[in-house]
Amino acid sequence: MKVAKFGGTSMADAEQIKKVCSIILSDTERTLIVVSAPGKRHANDVKVTDLLIALAGKAASGGAWESELNAVVSRYAAIADGLKLGGGIITEIENDLKGRLAKYAGHEEKLTDAVKAAGEDNTAKVVAGYLKSLGHEVCYVDPKDIGMLLSDDYGNAQVLPESYDNLARLKQIPGIKVFPGFFGYTRAGDVVTFPRGGSDITGSILAAAVGADVYENFTDVDSVFSANPGIVNKPEAITALTYREMRELSYAGFTVLHEETLLPVFKAGIPVNIRNTNNPGATGTMITITRHPDPDRPVVGVAGKKGFCFIDISKYLMNREVGFGRKVLQILEDAGLSYEHTPSGIDNISVILNGSKLTQEIEQKVISRIRKELSVDLVEVHRGFSIIFIVGEGMRNSVGLAARATQAIASADVNIEMINQGASEISMMFGVQDPDMDKSVQAIYSEFFRS
Ligand code: ASP
Repeated sequence: MKVAKFGGTSMADAEQIKKVCSIILSDTERTLIVVSAPGKRHANDVKVTDLLIALAGKAASGGAWESELNAVVSRYAAIADGLKLGGGIITEIENDLKGRLAKYAGHEEKLTDAVKAAGEDNTAKVVAGYLKSLGHEVCYVDPKDIGMLLSDDYGNAQVLPESYDNLARLKQIPGIKVFPGFFGYTRAGDVVTFPRGGSDITGSILAAAVGADVYENFTDVDSVFSANPGIVNKPEAITALTYREMRELSYAGFTVLHEETLLPVFKAGIPVNIRNTNNPGATGTMITITRHPDPDRPVVGVAGKKGFCFIDISKYLMNREVGFGRKVLQILEDAGLSYEHTPSGIDNISVILNGSKLTQEIEQKVISRIRKELSVDLVEVHRGFSIIFIVGEGMRNSVGLAARATQAIASADVNIEMINQGASEISMMFGVQDPDMDKSVQAIYSEFFRS
């Protein structure tokens, strides 16, 4: 059994939904389908989820919401019209939305999640309705009936462990099953959503629950690319990646899959295939637990991300002071900060943090505690710092890679402020100033992919 998830651009209008349905029907193993809400049809368009958030906002603030409701309904009306589904389904969608607004009036969090989830829920009904109209055995699956149970963290839910056994029953339902992504239900029976982009998470949970052969994630690009196409001109496609490589690359700026998405399929050892709805002939990128890297291609991708900061701490004889590092990290923990990396020397340590998390207010508290409690010689915060990651399973035991990378950065006339490599050797990190990031990524890319 294959679990296939289709993203927002695949659902954007009737023509896209027809493409999706022909992809579903072209493979008899593609029987468990997860759908997003309709996304943007063109660059200036608005996603249905954003229209729904605007609708919920209006309703929660007690304003008139009719025009926001109409904006949503007319998106579905155009889709239903293009799929020749008849007007009944539109009345149902309109009533469904009004029902959600009425049921959760006065409960802003619950109202927002229930309205947000209507995008996926109604899209699943439309897709199931269309496949049925073509004469196929198909059903819409209600996440409530099957038991997709989530924690009651509205807008940021986590799957509850019992969901997996509940969802395994999907295997017993014959034909094609269309499941709405992005939401589930609390134990108390209220709608609750994952973070934005969370339909990917739904697909991953379903694939793990039914023990799928593959989790196909259909989007609007042919594959994952070896660098950000906005920085590097026409980067190479990546055909195979391991979970570890994907995790490192998405941490450092690749945005193909939602951060939490891979966890359920990773634990279950299920491969993920990223594919393109607009070019179904392309084989896409396959993400697996292991792979055999090509010795001539030790690096699989180069990523860069701006907006980090670091706290630089120096103290004479720091390396002899038992517990120094723990005390620094404790101060950060007390401030609710998680740290990213801690490159260190004998008498200094740099703690790299996400710049947006270290607000000016938190910075003042943290710095004054470090100064007072640890009697340091120097503590300074530096902002506007980028990290660059070079990633590849083939980097392990490969001689001369660091030399090639640093030489490339030097040739771009960039000063490296920090270097970090863990013992797993599948990634190397370089810290540079924000304005130097793009040219560093371009230089490293040329070294490893064009030379
Ligand atoms: N429709 C939701 C969003 O736009 C979830 C998703 O598409 O995955 O965030």
